[in-house]
Amino acid sequence: MYNDIVLDHLSDPRNVGVIENADGIGHIGNTADGDKITVYIKVENNEIADIKIKVFGCGAAIAAASMMTELALGKTLDEALEITNDAVAEALGGLPEHKLLCSNIAATALHNAIRDYKKP
Ligand SMILES: [Zn+2]
Repeated sequence: MYNDIVLDHLSDPRNVGVIENADGIGHIGNTADGDKITVYIKVENNEIADIKIKVFGCGAAIAAASMMTELALGKTLDEALEITNDAVAEALGGLPEHKLLCSNIAATALHNAIRDYKKP
């Protein structure tokens, strides 16, 4: 039910881990099937210099979080805020309709981490 891009991220999720002393941390969960994502970012010169994720959830949530880190790494904060959940699903080559609730939290988790960084 998953395409090759999704399966690749699923078998080898990118940027998994934790950043100690992260500049921003974003949490998100969904109620669809209990997926949880935590995003850690390191910011340098207004760009995302490093990003790590912890994911607890189904395949779609893991693949979406993994793809989101690839889209976000090296982007400015403004560019990263423009990454949408739709863009993540599109970069993955599409996801099964009933799994969109799972993938549609990855970009939001990123935005939460950026907001956490920006908060005074
Ligand atoms: Zn899920």
